[in-house]
Amino acid sequence: MNNLKIALDLDGTLADIIGLWLSEYNKKNSKRLRYADIVRWDFWSELGYTASRFFKELSDCWNKWMDVKPMESNISYTINQLKNFGMIDIVTARDPRNTFNVKNWLMMHNINYNNYVLVSYGTDKAELEYDLFIDDSPLNAKKIARYKKRVILYDQPWNRNIEEDRYIIRIKSLADTLDIIPQLI
Ligand SMILES: [Mg+2]
Repeated sequence: MNNLKIALDLDGTLADIIGLWLSEYNKKNSKRLRYADIVRWDFWSELGYTASRFFKELSDCWNKWMDVKPMESNISYTINQLKNFGMIDIVTARDPRNTFNVKNWLMMHNINYNNYVLVSYGTDKAELEYDLFIDDSPLNAKKIARYKKRVILYDQPWNRNIEEDRYIIRIKSLADTLDIIPQLI
């Protein structure tokens, strides 16, 4: 019960990076796009964005890391509790140039983790050696399940099309993991 290797995602799971991106986008373009409107993973294509342009802007939001809000309050407490189950690595696909800012953010929010694992965009997190993944990406969730590994899907408007099954468990709050993990092992 205390030796699980858990891969914890950052953007959209711990950090509300889309919230910051949205306020920048709305300001720049005089738009009123709302969080709840983002019901598809690739919503940016409808805004005329290419993937690289969107992910570059998202990445640039980390330059304002002090303005990035945690997805929920008590995140530090929850992760400390989660550590009772084993090792928690922050596993994130991103531009390496964000590392310093992201680590500052994790420190500012007292997020206690074992390793910071950076993977490049397009890398399958599913291939990594973890017992359990906590992630908001519908693409990652499907891939992880295909590898017959367990993923706790952090509920977001852009992943509601994903059905739960024996490998995919949806949570509304990170604190839910504390009840769910003991049932998995
Ligand atoms: Mg994410």
